[in-house]
Amino acid sequence: MGIIISHPSLMRYPQMLRQFLNTAINLLLPHRCGGCRRSGTILCEKCALAREPADPLDVPDTYALFTYRDPVVQKMIWALKYRGVQAVGEQLGARLYDYLAEDLAEASQLGGDDQNWLVVPIPLAPTRARARGYNQASAIARGLVHRGGHDFVLAENILARTRDTGSQTEIRERNKRLKNMRNAFAVTDPQAVRGKQIIIIDDVITTGGTISDARRALARAGAKIILAGAIAHG
Ligand SMILES: [Zn+2]
Repeated sequence: MGIIISHPSLMRYPQMLRQFLNTAINLLLPHRCGGCRRSGTILCEKCALAREPADPLDVPDTYALFTYRDPVVQKMIWALKYRGVQAVGEQLGARLYDYLAEDLAEASQLGGDDQNWLVVPIPLAPTRARARGYNQASAIARGLVHRGGHDFVLAENILARTRDTGSQTEIRERNKRLKNMRNAFAVTDPQAVRGKQIIIIDDVITTGGTISDARRALARAGAKIILAGAIAHG
């Protein structure tokens, strides 16, 4: 599923050119199903239905499509995060919309100030954003917005990291990890958030610490309804 350019002779090229070449090459390659390798799709219906659903999360109003234990899911997330295949995020984002549609409709009944949903991807740490050149959560959010239609608005820069929290996978203990995330986000434009219905989007939810912290920042800024969705949990 996609390739990444890391040949030494290319390392002298500026990062942006390499990112551009990666994107171009990944666009030209045919997509293959992460399960059965059938070409023309990221995940075919048959393989999507065969995936293990996520265990219910113990964080309220937070949903995930699949369990991260599933090797096919791990492979897709890997392609999305490290191989530049943003189409993985876009297709799975559309699937996430279908999964959430009922909960979103129900939450809408409770009423934000308007019926629009702001779709807020969890931002990357600035250093990582520079290295990767794109935010995988944004790719998922784009897919969801595209599928959801005119009531869904991508709000990419509403949340900002207040500091670099370091790699979450390097901080193994749950408590340390949760502590590390506290107050990691700030809302850049509280006016745009006040009274709104919001869906926070991330690729993988582990402890839920990141989501909880983002939710806290958005709630403080006056968001009325906050749901969260991810591709995988585990
Ligand atoms: Zn398949």
